[in-house]
Amino acid sequence: GSILKVETETKDLVQMDKDHLWHAMHRYNEKASPMIAAEGKGSWFTDTKGDQYLDGVSGLWCLNLGHGRQEIAQAAYEQMMNLSYFPLTLSHKPAIELSSKISELLKGSYTTFFSNSGSEANETAFKIARQYHSQNGNPGKYKFISRYRAYHGNTFAALSATAQANRRVKYDPAVPGFLHVPPPYSYRSPFGENVENSDLLAAEYIDQVINFEGSETVAGVILEPFISGGGVLIPSKEYLTRVAEICKKHDVLLIVDEVVSGFGRTGKMFGFMHSEGVQPDIVTMAKGLTSGYLPLGATAVNSKIYENFKENGKLNHFRHVSTYGGHPASCAVALKNIEIIENEEIVKRVSELSESTLSELYELTALNKVGEVRGIGFLYGIELVEDKKSKTPVSDEFMGSVIGACKEKGLIIGRNGDTVPGYGNVLIIAPPLSSTVEDLHFVIETVKAVLHELC
Ligand code: PMP
Repeated sequence: GSILKVETETKDLVQMDKDHLWHAMHRYNEKASPMIAAEGKGSWFTDTKGDQYLDGVSGLWCLNLGHGRQEIAQAAYEQMMNLSYFPLTLSHKPAIELSSKISELLKGSYTTFFSNSGSEANETAFKIARQYHSQNGNPGKYKFISRYRAYHGNTFAALSATAQANRRVKYDPAVPGFLHVPPPYSYRSPFGENVENSDLLAAEYIDQVINFEGSETVAGVILEPFISGGGVLIPSKEYLTRVAEICKKHDVLLIVDEVVSGFGRTGKMFGFMHSEGVQPDIVTMAKGLTSGYLPLGATAVNSKIYENFKENGKLNHFRHVSTYGGHPASCAVALKNIEIIENEEIVKRVSELSESTLSELYELTALNKVGEVRGIGFLYGIELVEDKKSKTPVSDEFMGSVIGACKEKGLIIGRNGDTVPGYGNVLIIAPPLSSTVEDLHFVIETVKAVLHELC
């Protein structure tokens, strides 16, 4: 009886879903049924059919502490009961405490503007950067440089910084003033095969573009420390150090997008901390800031920028507001999330456990179709190719069969979409940072079994 009931309920939900719910990255498929999640615990969730899966991509790389942390739910509950909503045109305690905590974590003196998502955090960064230069006597500095393959969000300016053709072609023209440069990607170096210092050449390219454009026209460079959605690209540590120097030389703001890499994903609190001498002008955050329990975006600026906005003159008025940005419950959740990350030494744990995970995954490069395995912390990319010599990307269908076979075995993994048309060939694995050793073992063994069978 109860099995029949579950089936009927699921069928109804499937039909309602098909009729009324417009999915993210939607591609209509009459035959396919959506996977409808019912409940989650730790790194695992169960769908409405009762099948269990390990979420090897942490939702959308945000569920860093996994499902079901009672302390986090409690923090939201208490905050909602105490002060359900309050705007940040005025102030409230959770936002004050969180802004101060973020400054401490960034190891500098930072001031934070709160929003609701990573896209908005980046939009905010662009507006701050343009206004900063404008009121600093450089109104011509308005252009932003980002890297091909980067993803920075779905809103118009963030999408304009996003340099993946297929995400943009139907929505262009983009916002004016966004330029793109090659990413650091030694496996497919844009500077030719077998060049030794490909990553540093990619950094120098930014210097050249700023020179060609005229540094008096460039406001900022935005980058992820490690391109994640664009195919998990892990440059040498010197790359970011060099980009930071170049930015400084040209009075161009360095905007580091830590939406994915922030809060421990890479084995440091922030991804930029892997590179020496880098202290970003602006840091954007979302996802891991709350471990996905509630939406929250944050744009932290250093004191050089904030000082410029401090005077009371009309010029310095930052005309930017978000109704829900810095919602008291989201801030309370973020504070609790950070408290857990610190108390449970999550960042250290990720750093330690990543070594053995990576070395197990590296073994896969022995297979024909595994072109390269890349990773840092709990963020892994496996680039699949027809053969090692040609490096021809495997087909969409092949990627689908690998991901499908993992799903059959109870593991959800992701891929990089078609970052460059025809190049959606990187498997992405990013389990919750709280995954147990057994969870990690399951991830590794499942991926290994599937790739050994198919590659
Ligand atoms: N920046 C990066 C690096 C991202 O990966 C994402 C989301 N995947 C965003 C920004 C945008 O975040 P959101 O989806 O919360 O707007």
